[in-house]
Amino acid sequence: MTTVIRFSSLGDIVLAGAVTGQLGEVSFRTLPRYADLARRLPGVARVLGPDDAPVGGRVIDLHNNLRSRQYRADMRVARQDWRRRARVWFKGPPADAVVTRYARAAGVVPGPPPWLPPVGRGARLVLAPGAAHATKRWPYWRELARLWDGPVTAIGGPGEEAIVAELGGVAEAGFERTLEAMQGGAVLVAGDTGLLHLGAAVGLPVVGIFGPTTSTDGFFHYTTGAVAVELPLSCRPCSRFGGTSCPVGDHACLRGLSAERVLAAARSLA
Ligand code: SF4
Repeated sequence: MTTVIRFSSLGDIVLAGAVTGQLGEVSFRTLPRYADLARRLPGVARVLGPDDAPVGGRVIDLHNNLRSRQYRADMRVARQDWRRRARVWFKGPPADAVVTRYARAAGVVPGPPPWLPPVGRGARLVLAPGAAHATKRWPYWRELARLWDGPVTAIGGPGEEAIVAELGGVAEAGFERTLEAMQGGAVLVAGDTGLLHLGAAVGLPVVGIFGPTTSTDGFFHYTTGAVAVELPLSCRPCSRFGGTSCPVGDHACLRGLSAERVLAAARSLA
């Protein structure tokens, strides 16, 4: 049995589904809070916590940080940290997509989504308005919800209760409830967050709203059923993950993306 190591976060573990399904029977070592997600990935027969004993066989480390390097591994993913930093500092070429790097480490051709059991499709607009970093927060979620000609719901995590409730959802509902909320979705709209990848993984068309990061910076690699909405500003990307405030002060990367523009993208996929 092959063991895959990836401790966090939501989006990275979802994207690991592109390789777990190509490796035969897999054990997946992750943090307890991601165990429910990991055991649903294709090919995963067993989930290991950080303290569980190794099961033997080949080990592929898709995290390659201090913690994961404590475990024996036959192959570790290339993080390309310097290339990703140089992209922000000097606006050089982007690093390879996450899925490409995972597949290279695992020695497989990545499988296309869905990587999780697909949800039933319907007419509902599913919004994921939250983001851990302030510069990734798009300001026009309420306008988008008002413009959608049909039912709307929202999903999110801790700290996002107010905006999610305002948009008709329940924040921090847990993994199961989040999947339930996606049932009947026509399209999911999210920022550059793990929920964007979760939506694609369950077979929903997705619209990604990109500001301080870009769609070419590694996480948004979908070739069908996905649209990236973003502006060609010379300051982008200004960060690998987002920040607390806009370095140039106007947050034009997201303020310049109107609700109408995102709506058009959503309608094109619904
Ligand atoms: S406007 Fe430019 S500098 Fe400001 S957050 Fe967006 S990408 Fe970064």
